[in-house]
Amino acid sequence: MAMKRLTRQRKAVMDVLQEARNHPDAAWIYQEVRKVVPNISLGTVYRTLEVLVDEGRIMQLARPGEATRYDANPAPHQHFICERCGAIIDLDVSAAEVLEKARRAYPEMVFQSADIEFRGLCADCRDKLQS
Ligand SMILES: [Zn+2]
Ligand SMILES: [Zn+2]
Repeated sequence: MAMKRLTRQRKAVMDVLQEARNHPDAAWIYQEVRKVVPNISLGTVYRTLEVLVDEGRIMQLARPGEATRYDANPAPHQHFICERCGAIIDLDVSAAEVLEKARRAYPEMVFQSADIEFRGLCADCRDKLQS
């Protein structure tokens, strides 16, 4: 019975995160999951997210001065951060070229991965500024 409940909570958290396009934080996920599992606690949501991170199913995006955000896509990808509304959007842009440049410039070091953070205005914010 406890196992069944756990699975249901887990699934609800995963579903909410996968549908969200904005890399939400735990508080936002909690609000959404409560619509499906009304008796879930914020603590349970935090623990569930921790387990999913440990299992490599989701990623944590820790940013200084902000609540930790969560990413349903654990594969390497780049992020665009809107400086106006704070939305984090996945970019289908490869860091391979940058990584290759770094390898050539610093052959004495071993480069394994690169994270590039793109910043600017998301499409919504750009539209609002123009209208
Ligand atoms: Zn924006
Ligand atoms: Zn992402």
